[in-house]
Amino acid sequence: MLSAKVSNQTRKAVYARDGYRCALCDSTKYIQIHHLVKRSQGGSNSVQNLVTLCADCHALAHGIILNDGWEATPQDVEQALVEYLADYYAPDWNPWAVGP
Ligand SMILES: [Zn+2]
Ligand SMILES: [Zn+2]
Repeated sequence: MLSAKVSNQTRKAVYARDGYRCALCDSTKYIQIHHLVKRSQGGSNSVQNLVTLCADCHALAHGIILNDGWEATPQDVEQALVEYLADYYAPDWNPWAVGP
């Protein structure tokens, strides 16, 4: 059974790994935790499935465009985040693995 929320400990570990910056734009404002693989799609609360995003990039990742300047789609964001996390965890990395 997956726990519902990211623990404070995990959240801090993800922020620390990412240097308290957005993984996409390096902003340090309003940083938030994002699940690469959505919880509804079986994504875990592991640091290997979590990434730091600023509020704007987080909105973009969820398809909510806040800034007219952005050309990226949620798919572009996902691809960038896959590459970002793969730099840390590949080759033994599969956030899409189904299981405990
Ligand atoms: Zn950002
Ligand atoms: Zn998110």
